[in-house]
Amino acid sequence: MTSTVHVTDVAKDYGGLKAVCGVSFELRQGELVALIGHNGAGKTTLMKLMLGLIRPTSGSIEVLGDNPAAGQFAGRRQLGYLPENVSFDAALTGRETLAFYARLKRETVASALKLLDAVGLGDASRRRVGTYSKGMRQRLGLAQALIGHPRVLLLDEPTTGLDPELRQTFYEIIQRLAAEGTTVLLSSHALTELEERAGRVIIMNRGVKVADGSIEGLRNIARLPTKIRLKIAGLGPGELPSWLPTGAPCRRLDGHLVEIEAEPDQKIELLHSATASGRAVEDLDVLPPTLDELYAHFLRQAERTP
Ligand code: ATP
Repeated sequence: MTSTVHVTDVAKDYGGLKAVCGVSFELRQGELVALIGHNGAGKTTLMKLMLGLIRPTSGSIEVLGDNPAAGQFAGRRQLGYLPENVSFDAALTGRETLAFYARLKRETVASALKLLDAVGLGDASRRRVGTYSKGMRQRLGLAQALIGHPRVLLLDEPTTGLDPELRQTFYEIIQRLAAEGTTVLLSSHALTELEERAGRVIIMNRGVKVADGSIEGLRNIARLPTKIRLKIAGLGPGELPSWLPTGAPCRRLDGHLVEIEAEPDQKIELLHSATASGRAVEDLDVLPPTLDELYAHFLRQAERTP
């Protein structure tokens, strides 16, 4: 797959503060990548570097074959960006706002206006932006970022302030764009909603990239236990199954439920023991480590590394 973004050993200092430190990665066409990290981890700084809004202190960046920090950045028109805090002219209507951005990007106004329907603002398009709710302004920001079918889309906390219905629509829109070849990089603190959707996750900690891979790949590296929940018939109050391997962390939940933390290579053996034990297993849930747990693991590991 063709690479659209190359970030090579990039650092950005603000005085003595290292906002980004020795970060390298490559983004490919059609990838949907989540950029996650605590407040101040360097996510917005990385996006601003890719947009050419700021220059790196060292290292190099290439976006769609260009250096964004160079004066003429031809690729900029093929970039979509939703900033963390969207602000528009309150006196303009939604339509006027989008028409303004369409002209800036040299796209047809008619195609840009269709995006208002896509983000559910069709009915409010003739109202002044000053009367919009926070979520409506966020929708307008998203429509603005989508103008011109960008080849690279940078979204800084795009789902903040969106209601659950639009979150769903939002992910449908960006998944469709990624399927059509757009590179989507989105920063977010909403890890649960990224779990099923991001093909790849980059974790930042204090300006440093501490993990990068698919969720499955990060699970293989982290080797965190999988939670196995079993409903076992006839288990007495507080009783634990006799077939549990010694030392396997296990706790009782409500009813006849037992939760066992299984090491990755113990899972199958545990399930064999459970079904061979003679007591009926009435229900079973296998819960692999969540993105929240993986995130906490990689941050802990980074903090331990001197
Ligand atoms: P959040 O999740 O809160 O949006 P972030 O990961 O996007 O955080 P950045 O905005 O990239 O974090 O900031 C990284 C660090 O760089 C922070 O310590 C921030 O205070 C600092 N920083 C960012 N912009 C500037 C600036 N213009 N001048 C000085 N320091 C800055």
